[in-house]
Amino acid sequence: MFGLGKKTNDLVALLPEVRGKYLCNVLMARHTWCGVGGEAEVLYCPADDEDLSFFLKTKPYNLPVSVIGGGSNLLVRDGGIPGVVIKLESRFHKQYIIGNGVITCGAGLRNRDLKKIMLENNIGGLEYLCSIPGHLGGAIKTNAGCYGTETKDVLVKATVVDGNGEVKEVPAADFNLGYRSSCFPDDWIITSLTLKTEPRGPNEILKILNDHKERRVKSQPYNERTAGSTFRNPEGLKAWELIKKSGCDNLQVGGAKVSEKHCNFMINTGKATAHDLETLGEMIVQRVKDETSITLEWEIKRMGIPNK
Ligand SMILES: Cc1cc2nc3c(=O)[nH]c(=O)nc-3n(C[C@H](O)[C@H](O)[C@H](O)COP(=O)(O)OP(=O)(O)OC[C@H]3O[C@@H](n4cnc5c(N)ncnc54)[C@H](O)[C@@H]3O)c2cc1C
Repeated sequence: MFGLGKKTNDLVALLPEVRGKYLCNVLMARHTWCGVGGEAEVLYCPADDEDLSFFLKTKPYNLPVSVIGGGSNLLVRDGGIPGVVIKLESRFHKQYIIGNGVITCGAGLRNRDLKKIMLENNIGGLEYLCSIPGHLGGAIKTNAGCYGTETKDVLVKATVVDGNGEVKEVPAADFNLGYRSSCFPDDWIITSLTLKTEPRGPNEILKILNDHKERRVKSQPYNERTAGSTFRNPEGLKAWELIKKSGCDNLQVGGAKVSEKHCNFMINTGKATAHDLETLGEMIVQRVKDETSITLEWEIKRMGIPNK
C-alpha cells in the first residue's frame, strides 16, 4: 500500500521494535489529496493501540512525531517531514460496534466507508461525513462538517494515546471542537471514537447522500487535486467573497491555481510543488489584506520543511 518506501535508513535503527510497520523515505505526495510533499523520514503504521503506546513510551527523546489521516486537509512541504509520521492504516479499522444509538469505530476508518455501514445497519446521522474526504480521526481534529452538521454534533467520546503513550478515553467536550478546529494537545493521537446515530432506512440515507453529492459537484472542484477550503471563513464573512473581491480568483503560481469553480480552493494542475501552492496561498493572504484589511487564516494544515 505504501509504495516508494525503503526498508531502512539511519533513523529506523534508533526506533523501538514494534509489531507495526516502519517504512523509510516515504513520498508524502502519495498520501495527500493535493498530491504534493517531500518524503517522511519514517512512516510508522501501528499494529494497534498497545503497539502505538509502546512506541511512544520507548521512542528516543526529542524524536519529532507527527500524525496524518487521509491527507485531505494537508499541505506537506517539498523538503518532507523529519522524524516519524504516524498513519493509522484503514485496514486495521474495519471493526465497528453498533448499539444504543451510537457507533464505535477505529479512527483510521475512511469517512466514505460509513456509507456501507449505515446502509447495512439502518442507521443515519453521519451522512454528512460520507462526502468529506479523509479518515475519522482527522474529522475530529478538524471538526469536519458540511450541510448543517459537524463532528461536534455527533461525537460522544474518543480513545486517544497521548504523547507519553498513555491510552485514555476522552469525552467529546474535552476536544473543544469549534469551527473547523479543535483545541486539544497536538500530541494526542485519536485511535477510535464513538458517534451518535439515528434510526434511518436505506432509501432515506441514499436520498441524503445523493443530495450532498449533487450540491458538492455543483459548487466545488470535484475529482481534482486539492486540499479542500484553503482559508477559514472570518467571523460573519465568506473567505471566497474576500478572495474574489481582492481580484485573486484567477491567480496561478507554477502548477498551482485558484479553482474556477470555487475560489477558496487551490488546485494542483498536475505539476505543482508544495512551494507553488503555499506561495499562491500567501499571495492571496497578502492581497486580501491589502484590499480589505482582513487577514485570512489557513484552514489547510501545513507540515514539514521547505526544500533546501
Ligand atoms: C475535495 C475536498 C472537499 C472537502 N470538503 C470538506 C467539507 O465539506 N467540510 C470539511 O470540514 N472539510 C472538508 N475538506 C477538508 C478535509 O477533508 C477534512 O478536514 C478532513 O476531516 C481531514 O481529515 P483527514 O483524515 O484527511 O486528515 P489529514 O488531512 O490527514 O490531517 C488533518 C489534521 O488532522 C490531524 N489528524 C489526522 N488524523 C489524526 C488522528 N488520528 N489523531 C489526531 N490528529 C489527527 C493531522 O495531524 C492534521 O493536523 C475537504 C477536502 C477536500 C480535498
